Amino acid sequence: MLNLVIFGPPGAGKGTQSQKLIDQYQLVHISTGDLFRAHIQNKTELGQQVSQLIADGNLVPDSITIAMLEEEVKKNPVAKGFIFDGFPRTVAQAEALDAFLESVNTSISVVIALDVNESELTARIAKRQEISGRADDAADKLVKRIDEYFQKTIHVLPYYEAQGKLSKVNGIGEIDAIYAELTAIVDKY
Ligand code: ADP
Repeated sequence: MLNLVIFGPPGAGKGTQSQKLIDQYQLVHISTGDLFRAHIQNKTELGQQVSQLIADGNLVPDSITIAMLEEEVKKNPVAKGFIFDGFPRTVAQAEALDAFLESVNTSISVVIALDVNESELTARIAKRQEISGRADDAADKLVKRIDEYFQKTIHVLPYYEAQGKLSKVNGIGEIDAIYAELTAIVDKY
């Protein structure tokens, strides 16, 4: 199995690059952000639980996020592999993901971290908000999301680096040029 984590701060291009990767490698794309937004849209109990947290730019608690992720993996028993996008966002999530994958006899192949500086992220999301209308893309909420990233999520990098699974890619430039760097990494697996 080929299991990728596509990692990076809000606005790094995880979703854009994941979309291209799934087309080429026939992987199942699991975006926790997309899953939460679908729950909110469908007004599920989970959606109601998390909508305010997300709108305010906070992370959703690990227990909720991990349970949702595992359920989604289990829905795809014949998958060739997965792209995890927006997950793990905490070290506890990374540990839970490792344990869960081990229980189904697989593991993370590689973690690709998209590196983008803060001023570029802010500019990209301001532009995206005009189209997406996402409440959490508003400038004041974005500050909170970037803060959450630097407080909690960034620690996931050394976790995977210690496992020798981390590959960093410059996330600034042409989408296709960045994608070419990603495929060069993925093809090794
Ligand atoms: P972006 O990558 O642009 O920040 P996402 O769509 O990945 O956006 O996530 C949107 C929001 O959903 C996050 O700000 C957070 O509130 C919630 N979320 C998504 N994934 C996770 C996760 N793994 N753990 C906790 N919260 C999450």
